[in-house]
Parts: sequence; structure tokens; C-alpha cells
Amino acid sequence: MPTGVRSINEVAHFDERCDVLVVGLGAAGAAAAIEARATGADVLVLERASAGGGTSAMSGGVLYLGGGTALQRACGFEDTAEDMFRYLQASCGVAPDEAKLRRYCEGSVEHFEWLVAQGVPFRETFYHGTSGEPPTDDGLVWSGSERCQPYCDIAQPAPRGHVGQMTFQAGPLLMKHLCAATPGSGARVAADHRVSALVLDADGAVVGAVARHAGRERFVRARRGVVLSTGGFVLNDAMMRTHLPLGLRCKMRVASDGDDGSGIKLGIAAGAATKNLDKASISLPVTEPWGLKRGVLVNAQGQRFIHEDAYMGFLGERALFQNDGRAWLIVDDEIFEEPLYCKTVAATGESFEELAAELGLPPGSLAATLQVYNRHAACGRDPVFHKSADYLKPLVTPPFGAIDCTVEEALYAVFTLGGLATDVEGRVLDPEGVAIPGLFAAGRATSGLSVGGYSSGLSLGDGTFFGRAAGRSAGR
Ligand SMILES: Cc1cc2nc3c(=O)[nH]c(=O)nc-3n(C[C@H](O)[C@H](O)[C@H](O)COP(=O)(O)OP(=O)(O)OC[C@H]3O[C@@H](n4cnc5c(N)ncnc54)[C@H](O)[C@@H]3O)c2cc1C
Repeated sequence: MPTGVRSINEVAHFDERCDVLVVGLGAAGAAAAIEARATGADVLVLERASAGGGTSAMSGGVLYLGGGTALQRACGFEDTAEDMFRYLQASCGVAPDEAKLRRYCEGSVEHFEWLVAQGVPFRETFYHGTSGEPPTDDGLVWSGSERCQPYCDIAQPAPRGHVGQMTFQAGPLLMKHLCAATPGSGARVAADHRVSALVLDADGAVVGAVARHAGRERFVRARRGVVLSTGGFVLNDAMMRTHLPLGLRCKMRVASDGDDGSGIKLGIAAGAATKNLDKASISLPVTEPWGLKRGVLVNAQGQRFIHEDAYMGFLGERALFQNDGRAWLIVDDEIFEEPLYCKTVAATGESFEELAAELGLPPGSLAATLQVYNRHAACGRDPVFHKSADYLKPLVTPPFGAIDCTVEEALYAVFTLGGLATDVEGRVLDPEGVAIPGLFAAGRATSGLSVGGYSSGLSLGDGTFFGRAAGRSAGR
């Protein structure tokens, strides 16, 4: 048998038995365990760290939800599942999984209620002015590119970032409640158990797992199924080199220790297919505060490549994947303000030619770009990339500056979006699209909703939503 799987014939004795075994206690694992318990199953969760939480507990805690949740309504916003679907379908990369998107959007209102029922508090107030986690304890924020072209023409925009009531970073609060609700549901949790192999029966069905604990192997029999919810692989250099080499150039890998791809490799060893391993969320938070959206982002050719009011996940992806991480945000004296994250100024000058010379851009290119931009911005238009009129202002007041957005200097934050292939019920699929008996998965161990064009909150959102589905499927 390959590494990562054992035959049941090799197992002399099981140390532990359960109906459903959940591997990894982050947001996806907690959701899976709670819902598996709700089916009446005896549930055991094995977590390799000394406590649950994972990357979810380090996160901003934004959950991308909509379709008219109670929180959206309380804050005075109308939304429909159809608008949410249309936005996500258009924005979530090339060929996102439509069945998953549809299920997610239709179940989003109920999913919010479920989170509230687990004890997660949401303040019924809207915060305007950041993309993603707010610096306050407000409950609702914009967390994507809904108001940008072309999305605002495709779907009615609505803020869909739902954040637990916690100033700045709500991930710890979310996980405090989900980690408490897990044993609260009756599931058993064993920390310091690192799962190293799946146990297969003669037909290839997954019937248990092997975990390392206190220096020895423990064998667990799972009568109904195993759920892999072990996080992504951004800390696995070998996998990154193979699938996502550009991601290795990012300054920040958004991760906890568990994001080493162990669950993905376990699934592969059991016969699973993978999807979208080359896809990642790449955030470039250069337009915080939002006034900097009035700047002009150019590449090494001195040309624009995106509407600068797009969400930071779009900016980073486009700058890194399509422009080799060579980008600068051009500002003038009037719009310049201290950037929150990307603080290095690469060049200053009294003219665009001076800036271009300092940056090493082709002579004339930057001046030509700004000449076209300024001419149209003066009339409140951007016929090239359709930036919103709210952020259009001719850059005419020297001195001019170039905020450094190169991947070597600026904050590019990466985490992986691809993983095991699963269906809407959280069943892990083989390369033919057939469900592997006894194997389920959710969260960043899987390929989820976003396969590019990331909006904040989609990872915790799909992890908890399809984690619940995986738990229910395994429990049944
Ligand atoms: C600073 C920061 C901010 C972020 N903000 C947001 C945000 O606002 N919204 C959003 O949607 N996303 C955000 N993210 C991304 C998001 O946190 C993760 O993508 C998400 O939490 C992944 O959830 P998960 O349940 O799949 O994995 P995790 O939460 O990482 O859980 C996986 C668990 O499995 C355990 N594990 C791993 N391997 C094994 C094994 N072999 N055996 C046993 N246990 C194992 C790990 O220890 C871990 O506890 C942010 C991330 C960071 C770091």
C-alpha cells in the first residue's frame, strides 16, 4: 500500500472506535463534527495541535454570506440568493463549481442562523470604509468587488462580509464558539493526535485512520466515515513548488502549522482526485485606506492592468500571476495619504517622466498612461477599466509618487484555494468523479467556492457550510 494508507488486514487492534472521525479542528472540522453529531452519530475529532482553532482562529473571522440574512436586513440591505450567485459565478475565477455556488447561495441565510445558534454574536451594524475585517466590532462589511465593473452590472451589489462582534480580528471569537460547540454537541475531541494514514478495507472504502500520539501509533475505527478538514498546503514547499511556484514569492503565507497539505496527501493516497491546486488567494492591500483607490496601478510596461477599486484579492492575483509581481501605485500630492500596509515609496518626481526613469519603465509609457487616464478622469469616466467615478480624479498635482507594490517589497498574502475534489455533499471524489466510500472533506483541504477572484469570507464561509454537509453525509 502507498504511504498514507494502511490495509485493514494490517491492523491487529483498534484503540478507539467511533461512527464518524473528523481529522482537524478548524472551522470546517468543527462544523462537520457538530452536524455529524446532529445525525446521532458517535463523533471523534482528532487534532494534531494541543488545541483546536487552526488557521481559522488566526483569521479576520469574515464569513461571506448573503441572500438576505437577518444581519443584512437589520442593517438595511436587500439581497437575494440569485444576486449573490451571479456575483460569485462571475468573480470566483475561471469555471468555479456552479453546483457548489448554487447550494451555498441558497443555503446562506440558514447558514447564518446556524452560526448564531452556535453562539457566535454578530452586532447588527454596518461598517463602511474597509475591505474585510473592520477596525470596530460592527457586524457587516464590504468584502469583495461587488460594486466594481463588471460585477455591479451583473448582480445587484450588497455587502456580504459577516463578522463576529469583536474589534479588528474576529477569527479567535468565531473559533472560541465553534470549538466550544463541538464538545457541546457531544463530539469527543482528542488533541495532540496527528493523523498519518487512512485505513482502507478490501474494496478501497475508508474505514478508519492511524494517528500519532505521545510517540506511538493509535488506530481508530470509523464505522460510517472519515472527514478530512486539515487545512491547505501553503506551508508545504514541495507542493508549492510543484503547483503554485509564484506563491512562494509572497511575503506572507497565511497559515498555521497545520497547513502542510497532510490531509490532501492522505486523500490522494486513498484514491482521491484534486482540483485547482494552482489557485490561490493573493491579497495585496495597497488601497487601504480607500482614498488610495484614486491612484493608478501600473506594471513594468507603465500600463494599467486593473481597475484600482477592485478588492485586494483581485489586485494581488492580477499583479502576481499576470504581471510577475511588478507593480506600482502612482499617486499625486493631493491624494497621497499614509498607506496602512504597503508603505515603501519606490520613486518620487515632479513629472511622470522623472518617476518612470527612477522606476526603470519604458520612456514615455507612464506619461502616456496618465495622459489617457487623466483626460477621462476629468470627465468622471474610465473607459479602459471602468473604475467607479467615486475614485476617479486626475493626478495632476506634483510631486508624484510611486508606492512600491512589487512582490519583493509589498505585502502579498497567499493561501491555497485548491485541494481534494468533493461534491456538494462533501464526498471526496476519485478521478472519474465517483465518491470514495467512507471519505469526506471540507475547508481548505478541498477545492471550494473560489478558484480565483477571491472575496474575503469565502474560505471560512465554504469551510463551515460544506463542513456541515460533509458531517451530515458522513453521519448518515
Ligand atoms: C491573518 C488571517 C486572516 C484571515 N482572514 C480570513 C477571513 O476574514 N475570512 C476568511 O474566510 N478567511 C480568512 N483567512 C483564511 C482562513 O482563515 C483559512 O483559509 C480557513 O480558516 C481554513 O479553515 P480550515 O478549517 O480548512 O483549516 P484550519 O482552520 O487551518 O483547520 C485545520 C486544522 O487541522 C489540523 N490538522 C492539520 N493536519 C492534521 C493532521 N494530519 N491530523 C490532525 N489534525 C490536523 C490543524 O492543526 C488545524 O487545527 C485568514 C487567514 C489568516 C491567517
